[in-house]
Amino acid sequence: MPMKPYKVFCYQPSCKNLANYKIASRWSDGGVEELKTYALACEKCLSEAFSQSFVKHKSCRTISGEILEPPMIFELQKGRHSNQLVRRTDLEASCIS
Ligand SMILES: [Zn+2]
Repeated sequence: MPMKPYKVFCYQPSCKNLANYKIASRWSDGGVEELKTYALACEKCLSEAFSQSFVKHKSCRTISGEILEPPMIFELQKGRHSNQLVRRTDLEASCIS
């Protein structure tokens, strides 16, 4: 069965572009592990969305035993499951500096 066209839009309020990147943190309670999504962003909004994600990340409280890693940038690719996302550490570095 062909996959449905998968369209996601940038989370920035004034932006109408399609999102190319997902900003998310790995969350774990010691057993279950999942990705907590902060934002989806287009190329233009990526660095802004990434710095906003750090603000959100700091306001997230974890209870004892929970681990929430700092935000990471993943490339959104059509037809890929979230566990196959490609992490872009190069973009993370260029957004922080
Ligand atoms: Zn955008």
